[in-house]
Amino acid sequence: MSEDKTPSGPDLTKGVSLADFKDGKLLGHVGSEDVLLVQAGGEIFAIEPACSHYHGPLAEGLVVGDTIRCPWHHACFSLRSGEATRPPALNALAVWEITQDQDRIRVQRKREAPKPSARSVPTPERFVIVGGGAAGFAAAETLRREGFAGAITMLSNDGAMPVDRPNLSKDYLAGNAPEDWLPLRGEDYYQSAGIDLRLSTNVAAIDPKTRSVTLGNGDSLRFDRLLLATGAEPVKLQIPGAEQPHVHTLRSVADSRAIIKAAGSAKRALVIGASFIGLEVAASLRTRKLDVHVVAPEERPMQKVLGSEMGDFIRTLHEENGVNFHLEDTVERLDGTRATLKSGAVIEADLVVVGIGVRPRIALAEQAGLAADRGVSVTEYLETSIAGIFAAGDIARWPDPHSRHTIRVEHWVVAERQGQTAARNMLGRRERFDAVPFFWSQHYDVPINYVGHAESFDAVAIDGSISGKDCLLKYSKGGHVLAVASIYRDLDNLKAEFEMERSRG
Ligand SMILES: Cc1cc2nc3c(=O)[nH]c(=O)nc-3n(C[C@H](O)[C@H](O)[C@H](O)COP(=O)(O)OP(=O)(O)OC[C@H]3O[C@@H](n4cnc5c(N)ncnc54)[C@H](O)[C@@H]3O)c2cc1C
Repeated sequence: MSEDKTPSGPDLTKGVSLADFKDGKLLGHVGSEDVLLVQAGGEIFAIEPACSHYHGPLAEGLVVGDTIRCPWHHACFSLRSGEATRPPALNALAVWEITQDQDRIRVQRKREAPKPSARSVPTPERFVIVGGGAAGFAAAETLRREGFAGAITMLSNDGAMPVDRPNLSKDYLAGNAPEDWLPLRGEDYYQSAGIDLRLSTNVAAIDPKTRSVTLGNGDSLRFDRLLLATGAEPVKLQIPGAEQPHVHTLRSVADSRAIIKAAGSAKRALVIGASFIGLEVAASLRTRKLDVHVVAPEERPMQKVLGSEMGDFIRTLHEENGVNFHLEDTVERLDGTRATLKSGAVIEADLVVVGIGVRPRIALAEQAGLAADRGVSVTEYLETSIAGIFAAGDIARWPDPHSRHTIRVEHWVVAERQGQTAARNMLGRRERFDAVPFFWSQHYDVPINYVGHAESFDAVAIDGSISGKDCLLKYSKGGHVLAVASIYRDLDNLKAEFEMERSRG
C-alpha cells in the first residue's frame, strides 16, 4: 500500500465484532496495511486482501472451506497459511494472528512466512522439463515446493525466461505495463531453487528407450521422468505476401516487442483473425492510437465460443473504440502494405498481425512414439502412453471429467494447474487432474471470464445485460450446462466453477 493511501475500514487492532461483517468478510487495517477478516467454518482468519497475481480484491471472492478464491482470475489461497494453492497466483499472502474475546475480534501481529517444506521425497534423480512456459514453470516450481531434491533441468527454445504470456497481448502490448513485470520469477529464483533453466535450447528428439533427450547442438540429457510442455505455435497464414517483415504473429516476448517496435512508426494496423488474441491485439493497438482494421471470415467475433449475443457485444465494444471490422471476408494477398480481400476491398496497412489460431507443438511427442490425437494423449494423471513421460498445457489432451470428453484447451490457468499436477505425479502421487477449465480475456475495460468447456452448445441462457456489462451466460447442450461466461459477475462465475466441481462428485 502506498504511504498516502487512506487505510481501509476500521482499525482492526482496536477490535471489531462479528455483527460488523458483511457476507462473512470485513475489510479493515492494521497500521498502514489493509487486512481482510474472513469467517469460514466457525473460525476467523486475517489475510492480506489483494491477490498476489494481479491484486484482485479478495473481499469480493469466494470462500470454500478454509480457502479463498480471487474473483478476477480464480487464484486460490489458504486462509490459514496464506499459501497460493491454485494458480495463477504464485506468491503467498501475509496472514495475521487474531484474538477473540467473546464477540471482540482483534488482529495482532503478522505471522512469519512459513519456511519452504524441506520434505525429501524418494524419487529418481533427474527430472527434465521441455518447455519454459506456463506448464513447465509451474511444474518446476511445484517439484521444489513439494521437496523434490533431485536435479531439475528446464529446457526452453525461447530466449526469454518464463513470462506472464497473457500480458503480451494486453497491458504490455498496450504500453501500460513495463517489461520487468513480465518474468514469472527473476533470474535469481532459478539459481536459488536449483532449477537448471537453459534458454535458447531446442530439444530435437526424445528417446524413450534410453530415457534421454537430444538437444539441438547434439548433446543428450538423461532423464528419469520427463515433462513435455511445449505449448502451441501460431498458425501461419498461407497467402502470397505473408512472409514480409511487417507481418507478425504473437506468442513470445520477442514477438510482442517486435509489434511494439513496428507500432511506433506504423499508422494503420491490419489484424487478421477475430480470435481472442487478435482482438486483444486490436484493443492494445487502439490504445497506441493506431488505426485498426480486423478481417475475419466469421459473421461475428468469437461466436463459436461465446455465442451470437456476446459476439455482437464484442464487435460493438471494439467498434466503439474505433476498430473497423471486415467480417465474412478474408485476406487473399499482401502486396507490400496493400492487403487485398476476397470481397475485392483493399486495405492499406503498414503493420499486419495474424491471429488465426494456434497449433499444439506435438512433433517431438509424435517422433518419440507417444500416442497423439489432436494433441498429446494423456491419462487423468497427465501421463502419456509411455510411463514416466508426462505432458501438460496447450499440448495435452486429457479426459475431462466434467464434459466427459477428452479435451485440449489453450488456457493459461489450465496449463499452470496441469504443470502442478504433473509435477506431483512425477513424484508418484497419483493425483487426478480434475480442475474445471477457466480462462479470461480482456478487451479495453471489459474482462470476460469463462469456466467449463463447451465444444458446442445448443442453448445460451443470459442473465443480466450484456450491453450493460453485467451478465452471466450459461452455455448448455441437451439441458446440461457445460460452461459459463460472465462480465463483472465475478462472484457468480466463481460459484459456477465451484458448482461444476461439486457436480462431478
Ligand atoms: C499473447 C497471448 C495471450 C494470451 N492470453 C491468455 C489469456 O488472457 N487467458 C488465458 O487463459 N490464456 C491466454 N493465453 C494462452 C496461454 O498463454 C497458454 O494457454 C499457455 O501459455 C500455455 O502454456 P504452455 O506451458 O502449454 O505453453 P507455453 O506457455 O507456450 O510454453 C511452451 C514452451 O515450450 C518451449 N518449447 C516448445 N518447443 C520446444 C522444443 N522443441 N525445445 C525446447 N523448448 C520448446 C517454448 O519456447 C515455450 O517456452 C494467451 C496466449 C498468448 C500467446
